[in-house]
Amino acid sequence: MIKSDAVSRYLEQTKDLYGDQLFISLANESSHVDSSDESLDQFFDKINQCQKCQLGQTRTNFVFGVGDPNADLVLVGEAPGEQEDLQGEPFVGRAGKLLDKILSAIELSRNQGVYICNVLKCHPPNNRDPLPSEVEQCESYLIHQINLIKPRLIVALGRVAAKTLLKKDLPLKDMRSIKHDYHGTPLVATYHPAALLRNQNLKPAAWEDFKWIRRLIGESK
Ligand code: SF4
Repeated sequence: MIKSDAVSRYLEQTKDLYGDQLFISLANESSHVDSSDESLDQFFDKINQCQKCQLGQTRTNFVFGVGDPNADLVLVGEAPGEQEDLQGEPFVGRAGKLLDKILSAIELSRNQGVYICNVLKCHPPNNRDPLPSEVEQCESYLIHQINLIKPRLIVALGRVAAKTLLKKDLPLKDMRSIKHDYHGTPLVATYHPAALLRNQNLKPAAWEDFKWIRRLIGESK
């Protein structure tokens, strides 16, 4: 039996990420303690059959994320919606198109310099908010994705994503325009594009946020 602090830490991490089943299957590879060479695709292969919470039973597709694996900017929503569940891609449909337009206006795109994902990888039925127990099971996947991508900035899209990541139950207006920290990476919060479709009056403030986001990325280079 192997005993060392590094191996113990690794086993704890993999148990948190992959659950007991994968924990057992990976535990005999002590040479894999440092997983810094892992690619996003390899990570996807490890977790895309996840059944750690009840949403694994009801999803159509596991929605991992899309975009540039070396992105400066990671955009995070709360969970896949109905269309995302059907297509297996985050931020599709009208809200996704609006997000693409906003990104284009700050000279970015979902394939260049940007990675888009959600806190949860599976669709909650009836578009309900993620349950704390689901976030608890799933958030370690997001943290690991961010560790692999190493972005300069994270943007939480919408109040639910922001409060989930920041562990603060506040209105979005009290979380906007502040540079927060998420596990060592700067994080800012802005409106979800679906909210901008519902309420055009929010667009000027969202545009100010995205201009600031562009500046923050530039400043960190
Ligand atoms: S929501 Fe996350 S934890 Fe739950 S089954 Fe899907 S991938 Fe696994």
